[in-house]
Amino acid sequence: MVWFTTHKSDWGPNHERKMTLNRWFAASISCFTVFLFAACDVAIPPKIEEFSPSSGYKPASVTQIKTVEQVLAATIAVVKDDIRIEAAGSLRLFTYDNRASFDHYAPAASKSTVPRHILGGASGNEIHLILSGFQDPGSNDLLIGNLIEVIAHEYGHVLQQAISGQNSATVPLWFSEGFAGWVAANVLNSLGWQPYDISLHRFERELIHHRQHVLSLLELDDANHWNAITVKPNGAIKTYVTATVAVQNLIQAEGLDAVKNYFRTGIFASSFRTPWENFVREFDGYVARLDRQKPGEFSMTKPEWRPGDTWVYRRTIPGKVDRVQRTVVKEARYEGIPCYVVEEAGKTFLYTRQELGQLIDMAENTVITRRDRPNMILNWPLHQGKEWINSYRFEDLKNRSSGHSDRKMIAINSDAVRVPAGLFNAVKIEAFDRTNGRLVSEYWYSPKVKWFVKARWYVTSEGFKEYELLEYEYRAK
Ligand SMILES: [Zn+2]
Repeated sequence: MVWFTTHKSDWGPNHERKMTLNRWFAASISCFTVFLFAACDVAIPPKIEEFSPSSGYKPASVTQIKTVEQVLAATIAVVKDDIRIEAAGSLRLFTYDNRASFDHYAPAASKSTVPRHILGGASGNEIHLILSGFQDPGSNDLLIGNLIEVIAHEYGHVLQQAISGQNSATVPLWFSEGFAGWVAANVLNSLGWQPYDISLHRFERELIHHRQHVLSLLELDDANHWNAITVKPNGAIKTYVTATVAVQNLIQAEGLDAVKNYFRTGIFASSFRTPWENFVREFDGYVARLDRQKPGEFSMTKPEWRPGDTWVYRRTIPGKVDRVQRTVVKEARYEGIPCYVVEEAGKTFLYTRQELGQLIDMAENTVITRRDRPNMILNWPLHQGKEWINSYRFEDLKNRSSGHSDRKMIAINSDAVRVPAGLFNAVKIEAFDRTNGRLVSEYWYSPKVKWFVKARWYVTSEGFKEYELLEYEYRAK
């Protein structure tokens, strides 16, 4: 499996990229990134750098962050200023070029806690990272979003150590991981990568979708069990997502001081003013109560596009907001299949007339991406609760790579959505990665507009991305 970056934003190839990226990110919501490449690499010693609590660096924009060192320095700064926790002393960052280097040079203590499929971890006041897993294989650019999330998560473990001090109390694994996840989501927010409320929204949508598989916190205590679950289907949801939401609930109820107290004492009941067994029950109830409202019935048929139909979106990616225009230019046939030709941001996309599924992407009159089946974000007629599998192979002819996109789609409900173009009645569609269970993207389809009024992608080569409709123009039937 190969994925690659793109710098154009669209409804097309980015999806695959994000999909595959997300799969790599798979079991690891953030603690670690799945190791991508079987290495026949040469082991070279890690680069070791020292960071003090004063090495913080606050970039004016997240786009200024280019290196691992800047990610860690920015993390230290925003944790200190926004979350108001400081690591006690200095911190050492070990960066290994590849897995072979890690296997050869990492201290035994770190290695023993790092399963094979994983890219790094924290131990005491050290953070160990295997850099090859954060590099885009095409360009060798660093995937800053992944790095921020992983480094901030590991820094969360370092903070725990700093808070609990010398006589480190024992807290359950789910709590440590949930706290690290909470720190990571806050750092992504503070640096302008992804708003915290959207991170939390994603976690909650995931818990709702997988509700019948969510485990009780009681089952997540044991480290071996935890590691085994992470690599199972929907493993990221059962471990990291569940733990992060549980810690979020505790912090919301009792504040960060309660967490600090818990790290120091290891006594749940006095720290959070409730017995542990009660919280376990409360949390089960919380998950069960999420999103219990009854969605209304609806049924929608496929619209007809006409040449001239135009949608203009406000596109938000980390550190940047701009406009993207999308226009149906004509109808055409591709290998006998009737298609709409759509132009967007310098690219041309062919959508099947029958399904409105994206089939072919072109640039400068050349096919650059080909799918064996159309990308079925929509499935006609749309009705409440409808589920379908959106699965296809794609081939990137420019970069000579290929891959497989495999998502479960669900039409959740129909509701009013406000975007800059106005208030629309829209069907909410969610896309879940069929391997790790994570929510990959969300779409709001409006029959009035004949396309999406809003869409969100959680993991793309550009980072967290959102489109909102600014204006539209279409031909009457
Ligand atoms: Zn962790």
